[in-house]
Amino acid sequence: SAELPVGDGFAIYDNAMQKNLQEVRKIEKRMQFGIENNEFRIYLQPQFELATGRLSGAEALVRWISPETGLVSCPDYFIPLFEKNGFIKKLDLYMMEQTCRVLRDWKKQALEPVPIAVNISRRHIGEPGLAKRLLEICEAHGVPPEYIEIEMTETFELAENKTLQKALITLKKAGFSLALDDFGKENTSISLLRESCFDVIKFDKSFLSGCIEDKRARGLLNSMLQMVKNLGIKTHVEGIERWEEEDLLKKYQCDRVQGFYYAKPMPADMLTNYLPKT
Ligand code: C2E
Ligand code: MG
Ligand code: MG
Ligand code: MG
Repeated sequence: SAELPVGDGFAIYDNAMQKNLQEVRKIEKRMQFGIENNEFRIYLQPQFELATGRLSGAEALVRWISPETGLVSCPDYFIPLFEKNGFIKKLDLYMMEQTCRVLRDWKKQALEPVPIAVNISRRHIGEPGLAKRLLEICEAHGVPPEYIEIEMTETFELAENKTLQKALITLKKAGFSLALDDFGKENTSISLLRESCFDVIKFDKSFLSGCIEDKRARGLLNSMLQMVKNLGIKTHVEGIERWEEEDLLKKYQCDRVQGFYYAKPMPADMLTNYLPKT
């Protein structure tokens, strides 16, 4: 597989964080240094249209590569910490910029681009002026916002918070498409679905667990997919690892898929192998 070995080297920082302020300062410096020294890398995971098998897009996922050890850290180890100290905003914008660079490079190489999904933290999404900043990054690289899908994780706040709802509408008006990430992982709000302006709903991989063996798990997945479809929203399932799961999703007419069964996240330049030449 294309993915480098993964370590949990940064997990110690999360524990250290609880220790004292001095440690936190040290980590903050380390992160700043990391950005300046290219330690954060954009990996891309392909997404496919299930009915045709065509590449429909890719998701940008951050990796933190330690230059000393070569160890690759997965975001679950450091994102929670970055969300606590506010550094996440910097990282999200950095990833947005890396994404626009990738799209620009594809164009330069006469490759037909596909949209790239960028994750924006729940701690960041309601930030005033976010849409404007993201647009500026697009413009600087000559990338139309239609090529960017903004992913945000489902939270209670999203349903309750009017400021957040407005922020979403602003992003949408700016031309970005919107995806609700990790749907069904925590708290699913039906009213959120009715009122929101999401183009895509990304079903959390937990929907797949037990699906092969358990009739009820299948019933739930199928019903949820049809419900989202009936709202006129595109369905996307994450975490497909087995052909039996793909089979099931074909039967349920899910629109888009993503998972290790197809491809793991890979360094951005390797995704060009999946793109058609123009
Ligand atoms: P996510 O946005 O839900 O991303 C999907 C995660 O599922 C990725 O984990 C991906 O590697 C993993 N995955 C994909 N297919 C499979 C599969 O078949 N099986 C299994 N077990 N896992 C699969 P990753 O890259 O470790 O990212 C974890 C989370 O960190 C992401 O979840 C996202 O919430 C967050 N994240 C990643 N990059 C960024 C970023 O640039 N900014 C922000 N704010 N969050 C990010
Ligand atoms: Mg995501
Ligand atoms: Mg997800
Ligand atoms: Mg997730």
